[in-house]
Parts: sequence; C-alpha cells; structure tokens
Amino acid sequence: MTTSQEQLNEFHWMLDMVQTIDAGLVVLDQQYQVQIWNNFMEAHSGKRPDQTHGKSLFELFPELPSDWLKQKIDSVFLLKNRAFTTWEQRPHVFPFRNYRPITGTVDFMYQNITLIPLTSLTGQVTHICIIVYDVTDSAVNKEEAQRVNEQLKALSRTDHLTSLSNRGYWQQRLEQEFGRSKRSGHNYALVMLDIDHFKNINDSYGHPVGDEIITMLADAIRHIMRKTDIAGRYGGEEFAVILTDCTGEAAMLFAERLREAVEQLKLSLDEQTITFTISLGVAALDGEMEAAADWLEAADKALYASKHQGRNRSTLYSQELE
Ligand code: GH3
Ligand code: MG
Ligand code: MG
Repeated sequence: MTTSQEQLNEFHWMLDMVQTIDAGLVVLDQQYQVQIWNNFMEAHSGKRPDQTHGKSLFELFPELPSDWLKQKIDSVFLLKNRAFTTWEQRPHVFPFRNYRPITGTVDFMYQNITLIPLTSLTGQVTHICIIVYDVTDSAVNKEEAQRVNEQLKALSRTDHLTSLSNRGYWQQRLEQEFGRSKRSGHNYALVMLDIDHFKNINDSYGHPVGDEIITMLADAIRHIMRKTDIAGRYGGEEFAVILTDCTGEAAMLFAERLREAVEQLKLSLDEQTITFTISLGVAALDGEMEAAADWLEAADKALYASKHQGRNRSTLYSQELE
C-alpha cells in the first residue's frame, strides 16, 4: 500500500468514526456556517447534512440561545482555547427531544457541550468543533437523588403527627436565631405552651383522641403565627414558638390570642364534645442571656407559673419569677 493510500484510508476511518460516534459533532466556520454535521446531529435534529451544510447554525435553530452561544464561539476563535458548558449551567443547548426509555419522563435531552478550536496547518483557527454529549441519564439520576435527599432532610426535621418542626430541628433553629439576635439586635420572643390536664383526656377518651387534640392545637398555632415565626413540637403535648421581630409584650398578645382560640376549639366524639385549654409561658430575649438554654429556661419558668396559678393563662417572664 502506498503512503497516500494509507492516508486516504485513515481519512475514511476518521470520517466513519466522526459519523458514528455517540455524540454530536458539528464543525462551524467563522460565520457560524455548518461544515460537518454527523449522524448523531442528524438523528436528533431530523436535519440531514445536505440540509445543514453551509447554513448558519442560528438560522437552522432559531431557538438557540444565540447571544450566549455566539459569545462562547467567538471566544474560542479569539483565544484559541476550549470552552465548556454543562447541563447544570444550561440543561440543553440544542432543543433535542429525549427518547431514552429510563429517563423518558423528561422532554429534552440534557447536554454537556465542548467547543474546540480547529487549527489549520498554518496555525490559524478558521473553524471550531462543537461536541454535544447526551447526559440525560446521569443528569436525571442526579436530580432525582437531590430531590430524594431534600425530602429525607425535610422528613428528618418534621414531627410526623403535627407536621411542625420536631424537637431536634426546632432546637437547632433556636440556637440559630439566638446567634442571629446577638448580631442583629432585633427583638425576639419565645412562647412555650402545654395542654392542661392532658392525662385526663388520654385517660377518658384514649390515646388516639389525645393525638387528635394535639393535631388540632398544632393547626391553631400554624393558623395564628406569622410565616417568619418558628413553631416546633417540643414534647408530647408541649409546643414552642420563636417569634421573630417581636417584643415580650407583643408575644403576650400572640399567646393570649392563641389561648383564646384554643378555648373555642371543639372535638366532637359520638355524643360528646371535648374542649381543652393550654397554659403558656413567654420570654423576651434579653441581652444578658448567654445561651439559648437561658432563654428556654425563662420561658419554661413562665409556663410553670401559668400552671401554678391555675392554668389556662399566659405569663410573661420577669426576674420576680426567679
Ligand atoms: P398539666 O396541666 O400539668 O400539663 O397536666 P398534664 O396531664 O397535661 O400533665 P403532663 O404534661 O405531665 O402530661 C403529659 C401527658 O401527655 C403524658 C403522656 O401520656 C401524654 N402524651 C405525651 N405524648 C403524647 C402523644 O403523642 N399522644 C398522646 N395521645 N398523648 C401523649
Ligand atoms: Mg407536658
Ligand atoms: Mg400538660
């Protein structure tokens, strides 16, 4: 075999490989006109090489993000360096439909794109090559894993009965807000509350009815608090709410509103109507407090005072309770 025949063979092999490789290959000139358009591009775009040859990429695909892509292409010509874009930055550049069986739930093919400068024998870059990788499977798997992770995280923070924050997560938020208050100097108040004589409810009507009462209370809290407040189930029938941007006096108004709303709640059970009350303790965050635990203790002392003074009432913490 002669050298030129060998070269010709190699050239044909190259073309074969370019055609059949499982990635999109497009060669563009400086006017963004298509010079090479491989099988992958044909299969996914429905446009044959003879339909694309010599045509501007942006006329062929008016939906391409032209400003952004032109800037990328121009910089590859100018700097003679590669450029990349991943599906995380832009899920797809070419609007190809996704037909994969496993990830058939997404409409478009997720793509990673590489742009490489093609250097001529004289060292000039007159063309660039765009390589399009179909990364739909891994992108969808990653997104799915992220979604499941988020769900697990939310689940691990949530109390199953009431859907409020559970104690662990609520305490984390308490620490966070305590730290934030030190930096911002904003007012914060803490409300702790506990159902009065809850044992009697459980004993008289059974545990499931007790659960129902706990759920009703959680709904009342959710209804009355603001979006920025942070409510959690602190114990069996104990709840705690962090009120942001709120003085002790304003928190007392919140506590009384909640207490009165709970007094009005009724659970119908056969012939009977069950009502219940709560006691509350309120503590404003005080600059003297050194740790979140001090704040919690103050609210707990105020709650204890409410219980001690006959229940179904709210108490604002003050030094006299010590
Ligand atoms: P007090 O007015 O002093 O608060 O009286 P109390 O009867 O409510 O006393 P306490 O707070 O000590 O009782 C809490 C009871 O709540 C004890 C426990 O059996 C019950 N409990 C705790 N968690 C749950 C729960 O998830 N569901 C139900 N139904 N009961 C619970
Ligand atoms: Mg209790
Ligand atoms: Mg109780």
